[in-house]
Amino acid sequence: MVLHLLGLLLWSLLSALVLGWFWGWGVALAGPLLLAWFWLGQHLWRAHRLDLWLRTGSAQEAPALGGLWRDLSDRMRRQLHQRDQQVQIHTDRLGHFLQAIQASPNGVTLLDAQGRIEWCNDSAALHLGIDPQRDQLQHVVHMVRDPVFSRYFAQERHDSEVEIEGRTATLAHSVKLSVQLHAYGQGQLLLLSRDITAVQQAESMRRDFVANVSHEIRTPLTVLMGFVETLQSLPLSAQEQQHYLELMAVQSSRMQALVSDLLTLSQLEGSPLPGKAEPVALQPLMQQVLGDAQSLSALQGPQGLTPVHVLEMSPTPDWSVMGSRDELLSAASNLVNNAVRYTPAGGTIRIGWTRNASDQVVFSVKDTGPGIAPEHLPRLSERFYRVDRSRSRETGGTGLGLAITKHVAQRHGGQLRIESQWGQGSNFMLVFPASRVQGLQSVG
Ligand code: ADP
Repeated sequence: MVLHLLGLLLWSLLSALVLGWFWGWGVALAGPLLLAWFWLGQHLWRAHRLDLWLRTGSAQEAPALGGLWRDLSDRMRRQLHQRDQQVQIHTDRLGHFLQAIQASPNGVTLLDAQGRIEWCNDSAALHLGIDPQRDQLQHVVHMVRDPVFSRYFAQERHDSEVEIEGRTATLAHSVKLSVQLHAYGQGQLLLLSRDITAVQQAESMRRDFVANVSHEIRTPLTVLMGFVETLQSLPLSAQEQQHYLELMAVQSSRMQALVSDLLTLSQLEGSPLPGKAEPVALQPLMQQVLGDAQSLSALQGPQGLTPVHVLEMSPTPDWSVMGSRDELLSAASNLVNNAVRYTPAGGTIRIGWTRNASDQVVFSVKDTGPGIAPEHLPRLSERFYRVDRSRSRETGGTGLGLAITKHVAQRHGGQLRIESQWGQGSNFMLVFPASRVQGLQSVG
């Protein structure tokens, strides 16, 4: 800057000397005056271009200016460039931050000091039924429309969370949300929402299960205690005593069966999935299942010696299912034993393995028993669900057999399928993917 001024002074002096020398000292002042005007005009023009660039241009498009203005514009360009880089870094950071919040399964809504929605992620939009664009700056209480939430919002402190109904809830499907407000910044609020439907369902299932187990155990226990009291208080003959002891044995074995099924269920739930390494040969397995079913059927006869059902088993192919022998035996036995227990004497039960058109391997147990009405079919494999409670009890049922069977099928990559018509018998099937079975190529 000082150099530029010194240069101007030097040029003014020189022009005054030249003009004074040639045209007389009267016009000597015109030279510096003209030079000053030119100098001023040039600087004004460059300042104008710089101003124009600062208003509209980007850091890259700096105008080509001379002298002092070039230094200025270079310095400005560098600073603008640095500022652009900073802005880019912060924009990227904000983008990552928003992406992370978007990825959260929990809802996050930012509210301004008046409680109006500033921003929300997709989960919050789904939970609260908000359209992030359309509902921006709408008051959250108007959007959530839940009296519990309105009261909660009006409180001064929001130390705990509250439960409200989710926006996607319908009459048939309840959705429960847990929401909590947190203060941040200058009076702003953060609204966090969490879908707790599954947690609540699991909790209610746990409660039902405990209630069911207690009920199932209490019934035989009460009967047992009644017999014990009778034995203690009444003078009974040896024959009568024997009769009561036999009834007590029935109740004890009922309790034992229940405890054993409960243990099986908890083992199935707690143990790792059976691998595909151990082949379970079906032929010996089926021999055992058939033998047990024949004994069970015979027990229904007067002497308990010959089966009262026609038990037909088609020849078992030389296949092996990869998995756990104990689990597969219990699943197959449950289906066959159920058929024996629910089919009246004289009925027919057909057992067999086939390969279906969808390349699945099917174990089927078909009976000519009472059949099951369609409304019961979807619930049959629920724990303790029974169509005919007294028939189940009479035949030593625990209400857990099909739950265990379904679990075993799923643990082996398969499923339990039930086809039945009221009054026309049932067909219970275990369906496995062919990939789970070894030796399929040995049969056409
Ligand atoms: P349970 O110990 O009561 O037999 P399961 O879970 O094995 O319990 O079966 C559930 C219910 O399904 C039974 O109570 C019975 O009502 C019905 N059921 C199962 N198998 C048959 C069948 N083969 N024929 C008719 N009903 C059946």
